[in-house]
Amino acid sequence: MTRWFAIFAALLLHAAAWAHKPSDSYLTLDVKERRIDGQWDAIVAFAGATTPLGWWLDGLADRGRLLLPMTANQERGGFMLRLQRNGSGLSARSAGWVGFYPCAGARNEADEAALGRALDDRLGQSALRSLRRDPHDADDSCWLHGEGWCLSRHELH
Ligand SMILES: [Zn+2]
Repeated sequence: MTRWFAIFAALLLHAAAWAHKPSDSYLTLDVKERRIDGQWDAIVAFAGATTPLGWWLDGLADRGRLLLPMTANQERGGFMLRLQRNGSGLSARSAGWVGFYPCAGARNEADEAALGRALDDRLGQSALRSLRRDPHDADDSCWLHGEGWCLSRHELH
């Protein structure tokens, strides 16, 4: 059974009702809870983040997917980040431009500024292939290099 997990900054809609899933196969929470119990096949965020938080990534089961709107400031909008866990790796793709409410608890000024600069490079956004969590210095393969995470052009193998 597919297990769904939804992250809300505000109550926008009920994901389980939307997905027509039985009540034991989904969970919703406010991002301020800062933890996910168990492993999930699908995690969907309904508010714009600047940072893919580690505790969200840790909650993804193998082959599980995370949909996360990555948004700069209100005027800029951002893009929908689609991640899939493949063992210890996370493949990453852009699913296109979006606008979302900001996600309290998953934003900071430094990442918002870096995301705004990265969004100027539209070709780079379409070329992103993985989310790296290994420590490394920023190089040409990094599209958006954050603290403890990086959206990279490196393909997962
Ligand atoms: Zn990097």
